[in-house]
Amino acid sequence: RTVYVNGEYLPETEAKVSIFDRGFLMGDAVYEVTSVLDGKLLDYAGHEARLARSLAELDMRNPLSAAELLEVHRELVTRNEIGNGLVYLQISRGSAGDRNFLYPDESVPGTAVLFTQSVPDLAMPPAAERGIKVIAFDDLRWGRRDIKTVQLLWPSMAKMAAKKAGCDDAFFVKDGVVTEGSASNAYIVKGNRIITRPLSNDILHGITRASLLVYAAEAQFEIEERAFTIEEAQAADEAFITGASTFVMPVIEVDGKPVGAGKPGKVARRLREIYVEAARKAAI
Ligand code: PMP
Repeated sequence: RTVYVNGEYLPETEAKVSIFDRGFLMGDAVYEVTSVLDGKLLDYAGHEARLARSLAELDMRNPLSAAELLEVHRELVTRNEIGNGLVYLQISRGSAGDRNFLYPDESVPGTAVLFTQSVPDLAMPPAAERGIKVIAFDDLRWGRRDIKTVQLLWPSMAKMAAKKAGCDDAFFVKDGVVTEGSASNAYIVKGNRIITRPLSNDILHGITRASLLVYAAEAQFEIEERAFTIEEAQAADEAFITGASTFVMPVIEVDGKPVGAGKPGKVARRLREIYVEAARKAAI
């Protein structure tokens, strides 16, 4: 596989980053994941805009211009012959050499790394047919979940706990209500109404969420932005999550209780179709 690191395209075995890089030592880095369907980038403008916001919130500069960033995405998709899959992008603050809590001088360049992963069944993976089971898990992440940093230890611990419980994922819970999934936004469905938490610093502002809410409103679904509890999710007609690499994924069990009939529901199925069709059309 060919990867990109700081201006160079290299075989993955030859790509190198300093051990003093703040991304490595301090989790001082932000990332994005953009899906690729039929060789084209999905929701690219949204991911580009969120990256700029994450960087700005952390006073970090992007070593790549907007034009270069798109060019690298496309070049990696081409070189690695990605039909369906994803492009991972990470920008860290780099390092001045020694370990230091203080940021290095502005002249120190950040580290940009991009790579692809091939996911042949991205459009319709088995999990989307089956639906997934989630556990409830205390949301003990830091308070700026709106910034897409690489500090993913708590989500990893949540996924490990889910696996141990025979489940696939977790719904994070804070102050008695669901914030989001471990790497996704969370929703419940009641009749024709889609309920999801409003944007704040408590959740990542999902790019898939933003697109889906527009497409769902166009398709005459009602949208209510408010937080919901685990009990409410268990009693809902349906539940689902969204993310750039999962699109719309039905949730069939929440903390040991089946949701609805315990099978993927018709609204989640319909929303998945709507999202994939519209996102494909808008792909670049
Ligand atoms: N919330 C969290 C915590 C996430 O990690 C992700 C996926 N990166 C999302 C929500 C979904 O965001 P997006 O639709 O932009 O992938």
